[in-house]
Amino acid sequence: MEAILIDAFEFCRLAEVREGEFAVADLPRLAAEAVNAKGTVRWSLTGGRHALGHPQLALAVTGTVQLMCQRCLTPYAFELDAESVLVLAQDDAGADELEASLDDESLEVIAGSRQFNLADLVEDEALLALPVSPRHDVCPEQSGKAAGAVDLDKAPSPFGVLKDWKR
Ligand SMILES: [Zn+2]
Repeated sequence: MEAILIDAFEFCRLAEVREGEFAVADLPRLAAEAVNAKGTVRWSLTGGRHALGHPQLALAVTGTVQLMCQRCLTPYAFELDAESVLVLAQDDAGADELEASLDDESLEVIAGSRQFNLADLVEDEALLALPVSPRHDVCPEQSGKAAGAVDLDKAPSPFGVLKDWKR
């Protein structure tokens, strides 16, 4: 996949807006968390300025990722819907400092870059939005078992088979 690089500081200064989408298949760390690489992640990024003058990005991520339900062990489409505010510091050391001085849980401070990789940013955001323990809101009926699942109640018992053979 072609990397989308932006100058994050200019993007904020010019209050630019950009949006697009990535296939889950193009986001390897996200694909590794998913049952399969189907699905897309749509994103929109808005440049701006924090109340104290720091460059700031607003990122929204939506889309679907296929996850395995931990309750019924069938895959389902998890709806991504996350928004975050990212305040840019000049570098990692600056980010730690700024994070401490802003002391604001509602935003994240990250190191900005003149060659900021949007795929990484979107992938990080999507990963953070994944549930720790993925589950359907309501699991499908147990009768609707995953195709190919063996129904143990109806499978012939090996002992029954043995009995028939002895007869
Ligand atoms: Zn389920």
